[in-house]
Amino acid sequence: MKKKAILLCMILFLTAFVARAEKGLKVFISVDMEGISGVIHWEDVSRSGKDYSLFRRLMTEEANAAVKGALDAGATEILVRDSHGSARNILPDQLHPEAILLRDWSGSPLSMMEGIDETFDAVIFIGYHAREGLPDSVLKHTMTGTIDVFLNGKNMPEAGINGAIAGYFDVPVVMVAGDLGLVKQAQELFPGAECVAVKEGIGKAAKMLHPTKAQEMIMKKTKEALLNLKKVKPLKLKTPITMEIRYKDENDAARGSWFPGAKRTGERTVAFTHNDFMEVLKFFMFAH
Ligand code: ZN
Repeated sequence: MKKKAILLCMILFLTAFVARAEKGLKVFISVDMEGISGVIHWEDVSRSGKDYSLFRRLMTEEANAAVKGALDAGATEILVRDSHGSARNILPDQLHPEAILLRDWSGSPLSMMEGIDETFDAVIFIGYHAREGLPDSVLKHTMTGTIDVFLNGKNMPEAGINGAIAGYFDVPVVMVAGDLGLVKQAQELFPGAECVAVKEGIGKAAKMLHPTKAQEMIMKKTKEALLNLKKVKPLKLKTPITMEIRYKDENDAARGSWFPGAKRTGERTVAFTHNDFMEVLKFFMFAH
């Protein structure tokens, strides 16, 4: 009887072990457009721009490079979130067939991270760009382009806000591709993450990698990042969390200050503090 019980325990343990081994990686890829290699001008990333069809194809190809790298590393579930403008840029029929594509905006405070939850193992940012005012970067801005966003006093790029959303669900950002300015910030925000600088801003000009080269590097670095997942910790914000928005226009500060619990902290600044980052994100959704 005792032997039987031991055998049963061993079988149960092995079954659990095999099931765990079979559950491959679940990867979330958020894809913006300003940081795609080749992109230099707002027309390139606007649906009305003459060359938009070229750049949405390059955006799709960079997303595919990350998908291929993830598959090589053993990913079994990959969600690609189109995160730019209309969120209807990536060409659905040209995206790698193993990826699920998330398009358009639901109105959720998760925004560019819509679809993320605690079941994911890793987050990857493709086509990302630096925050307003940073050298070495291309089409630098934060969200609407009319604000700076500070989290616990730190001026955050979109990658920082979205990395904190991933961190809220205990998921680390392991790979970031975009302009050099963004990559420098990403190395500070996500120590140990792999990064690919696909272009280097010089004022409003930029030196670019050939898209094929950029895609090769993204595929390689994504695979490396996912094979060394444990190197990177999720970005967890210290509580209480304060978000302060600095607007270019005073009128926007007046509007933002109406969110329940928000405080006008200056002529063009509004702040909101809460222990739950999701509540902070609701403020952000209202106020920007
Ligand atoms: Zn964008």
